[in-house]
Amino acid sequence: MYIKLPEDVDYIITRLTEYGYEAYAVGGCVRDSIICRVPGDWDITTSAKPWEVKKLFRRTVDTGIEHGTVTVMMGNEGYEVTTYRIDGEYEDSRHPKNVEFTSNLGEDLKRRDFTINAMAYNYSQGIVDMFDGKGDIERKIIRCVGNPEERFTEDALRMLRAVRFSAQLGYEIAEETADAVKKLAGTISKISKERIHTELNKILLSDHPDYLMKAMELGITEIVFSALNDLPDKETAMKLLIRLPKELVYRYGAVLFELGKKRTVAVLRELKLDNNTIDNTGRLVDMHGMEITEDKPLIRHQASSCGAAMYEMVLRFEYEFYMAADDRNKAMALKKQEALFKEILENGDCLTLKELAVTGNDLIEAGIHPGKEIGNILKSMLDDVLNTPEHNTKKYLFDNHLHI
Ligand code: ATP
Ligand code: MG
Repeated sequence: MYIKLPEDVDYIITRLTEYGYEAYAVGGCVRDSIICRVPGDWDITTSAKPWEVKKLFRRTVDTGIEHGTVTVMMGNEGYEVTTYRIDGEYEDSRHPKNVEFTSNLGEDLKRRDFTINAMAYNYSQGIVDMFDGKGDIERKIIRCVGNPEERFTEDALRMLRAVRFSAQLGYEIAEETADAVKKLAGTISKISKERIHTELNKILLSDHPDYLMKAMELGITEIVFSALNDLPDKETAMKLLIRLPKELVYRYGAVLFELGKKRTVAVLRELKLDNNTIDNTGRLVDMHGMEITEDKPLIRHQASSCGAAMYEMVLRFEYEFYMAADDRNKAMALKKQEALFKEILENGDCLTLKELAVTGNDLIEAGIHPGKEIGNILKSMLDDVLNTPEHNTKKYLFDNHLHI
């Protein structure tokens, strides 16, 4: 088996080897290369200790040096070079509490989570595959390295990772591995929300986001995403999930819309997602079920209430929702609505206070006292302009909205 290593990776491995150390590309990049997926990043594992790695390369960053990881910079690109290690118990972060360096590649591969993630490769040795990762790739199976119960007891996050890789690759989880998840799912509650949402996000953004249902069958979602278990119509939610673009706002929206805005926001806060994702998903869910219309003034009002960019997302979401719910008539009506909204945008119609021909300052200059009144007048002007875009001139708005 031949894998073409990127030039930088080849350089790092060759240099380490020239100085008498072992070095391999390892983990996800080897797995992805075998499957013909483009690896997200290339990690390197080596017998050299971190301080020895640092001596051999001009620019390095101590990313996780206490766990053996040094980032080697090649131009703008960084490569994580990690010393062969044996892990202690994991804490609530990416790294185990304590690690022990070893000079044995086999020990390093043994600590890795799944067989498909436990392969190493370099040009001189080819693929090192001690746990039949290649066989599991052929069988399309996610299987723990070693005893699943032990591995999940060391680090409970691995249970969610099993579903994540299963969703990304479309693989089944091996029976013994799945049984161990069912038994130990409750222990995921010990894991930090940040680690949990990182994996959950990857499931939602994968080709098989509906594998969330697998996580549910295994008892994982009860712990990490209990809202999912409360959905009245999971089938439509999952159909919608698959149809929508791979963006977090759409995909969290697809799962949570049935619960309404308030609960959606609460669930996403609980998961400690970033504010942008929380706010936008809340707005999307809030707009769900909006009136379907061919009335341009109403469309402008709807768009104004959530903002033009969000409104485009809402139109897409609603269209896919009706398609998922097999209501083609409503879906087609939404296509029409989308076309009308495009015309509104092309026409440059005013949708926000910012685009209004009159500003707060104009009103102050006209003698209105700064304060609530200004807001009220601007709002009535915007209302008028949303109904009739031609009214967006200073003269018209002053003549018709100011009665001084
Ligand atoms: P991705 O494409 O998402 O980056 P990956 O396989 O590279 O997938 P990472 O989370 O980047 O996954 O981890 C890199 C490698 O480190 C894994 O392939 C695996 O060998 C090992 N690994 C990561 N997290 C764990 C863990 N919690 N327990 C055991 N091994 C792990
Ligand atoms: Mg990776």
